[in-house]
Amino acid sequence: MKNLLFLVTFIFVQNILSAQFIQNPLPYSYDDLEPFVDAETTKLHYSKHHAAYVNNLNAAVAGTPIEKLSLNEILAKASTMSSEIRNNAGGHYNHELYWTVLTPEENTKASTELENAINETFGSLDLLKEKLTTAGISVFGSGWAWLIVTNKGKLAVCSTQNQDNPLMDIATIKGTPIFAIDVWEHAYYLDYLNKKNDYLSTIWNVVNWTEISKRYHDAITNPDKFAFWPEIKSFHKVISHTFYPSEEGNLQPVKEKSSELLENAFALKTSNIPTEYLTRSIVTAVNKLAIYSKSLDKLVKSNATDEKITKALNNLHNEFHTLLELCSLEDNL
Ligand code: MN
Repeated sequence: MKNLLFLVTFIFVQNILSAQFIQNPLPYSYDDLEPFVDAETTKLHYSKHHAAYVNNLNAAVAGTPIEKLSLNEILAKASTMSSEIRNNAGGHYNHELYWTVLTPEENTKASTELENAINETFGSLDLLKEKLTTAGISVFGSGWAWLIVTNKGKLAVCSTQNQDNPLMDIATIKGTPIFAIDVWEHAYYLDYLNKKNDYLSTIWNVVNWTEISKRYHDAITNPDKFAFWPEIKSFHKVISHTFYPSEEGNLQPVKEKSSELLENAFALKTSNIPTEYLTRSIVTAVNKLAIYSKSLDKLVKSNATDEKITKALNNLHNEFHTLLELCSLEDNL
């Protein structure tokens, strides 16, 4: 029994220490997309190509500060990443999306909400398919064709080279991807040889419109307005975990996390503020957050009274909301 417990603990700890990025199971069997995508292609594509991106990504970030970032945070900072991390993080994200937007289920339909948006933006579903096919064909070498929701909530079609994607800060057209076509040769070569056009016209037989509709709905209802300012999101996470318990009289979290708050406030202060938020009042608010976080941390470290700590935390929380409001103002300009 003791041995078993040891083994379970060992496996558990080993999992925590190793790979933090994991490949989700394929939502169907290798042969389910036949005859449109053959089993051998899907098997190689999923178990070799995609798996390699995940393994290489985990190896590249291991032991660096980047391993603490989420996949989306890495993509949003692609311009600051090594090409190895940029390629493998993109490769992992892009394939995760690709598997879910394909399905063996026949005749899936776009929701009325998505259909209306497609008609409004492209004229019809057929015209959208044409546009995506053209985007795929126009990729020189390896890359992806995308249907995205822009930061303004509009549909758009674009393409990227290699494993880049529209979530990256280096992308010419940015937004939340809701559908992707892999136009690397490994996605179609066994079936279609070099006939990329045939692959692009056949892929529609296995497209999962139910999933795309769901992703569309999520993208327009929860727009990620801070996608390119991950530091503000990290700060938000820590302030939520400390402020809300303090409202219930529980100061334990803020006492434990005051230096984490300070680190995040400092990271925010030294971050690259996205141009749409780069105003004097926002810079001032960001600087104030760093100052308030520092005095809060000092109070905690010197065992100040709960009253003083609560007051400093409230100040910090208020200043954070001032910053968020300033950002909303900028949005309306
Ligand atoms: Mn691929």
